Amino acid sequence: MQAVRARIAAAARSAGREPGEIALLAVSKTFSAAEVRAAHAAGQGEFGENYLQEAVEKIAALSDLPLVWHFIGPIQSNKTRAVAERFDWVHSLARAKIAQRLAEARPAARGPLAVCLQVNVSGESSKSGVAPDEVRPLAEAVRALPRLRLRGLMAVPEPSDDVALQRRRFRGLRLLLEELNADGFGLDTLSMGMSQDLEAAVMEGATIVRIGTAIFGERKYA
Ligand SMILES: *Cc1c(COP(=O)(O)O)cnc(C)c1O
Repeated sequence: MQAVRARIAAAARSAGREPGEIALLAVSKTFSAAEVRAAHAAGQGEFGENYLQEAVEKIAALSDLPLVWHFIGPIQSNKTRAVAERFDWVHSLARAKIAQRLAEARPAARGPLAVCLQVNVSGESSKSGVAPDEVRPLAEAVRALPRLRLRGLMAVPEPSDDVALQRRRFRGLRLLLEELNADGFGLDTLSMGMSQDLEAAVMEGATIVRIGTAIFGERKYA
């Protein structure tokens, strides 16, 4: 955890940014509630999960801690209720139909669900996320819904060792955000950067990096 914080701080400094502008989301998928508890004891408060059933059990087991939970995996229609009831954030929204179901299921008592739209910035048809030219209509649909608060954009680019390519994809996401903000969307979140490419993401303006392996080690299953 300290090593990851040091990487974020170094990247921020070389980009002329304050390290405090970049939030660290610890991606705890496949790791146990006890491991999350230990990370919290080491100062980590925000956790990301991909698999709903596993996450629901962990959230229940850790309900004595003031943790913030982010859903970052693909969302099927039959999962929207549990996601809306138990999570604080969703990073992986890519369909208006899912947005509507999340809004309907969000308990009023919990306050708005923070959402990011997942954008397919690498262009592979196999990758999840909305195509860049479909971001605006989806953003407008989400903005019109009650109980959701559109915060920004998220991307999971194809892994690449080419830092210039990593940066081009992250820059593409930032430019999309800037276009929306030029039209008054008021978005404040760029969720981008993982263990292998967090430096490139911070250089291009990431405000949340989602880090699993570099904190917890290799995942226990795929
Ligand atoms: C698993 C996952 C991460 C973390 O990836 P690492 O390479 O282990 O840091 C980040 N974002 C998403 C969407 C993930 O599924």
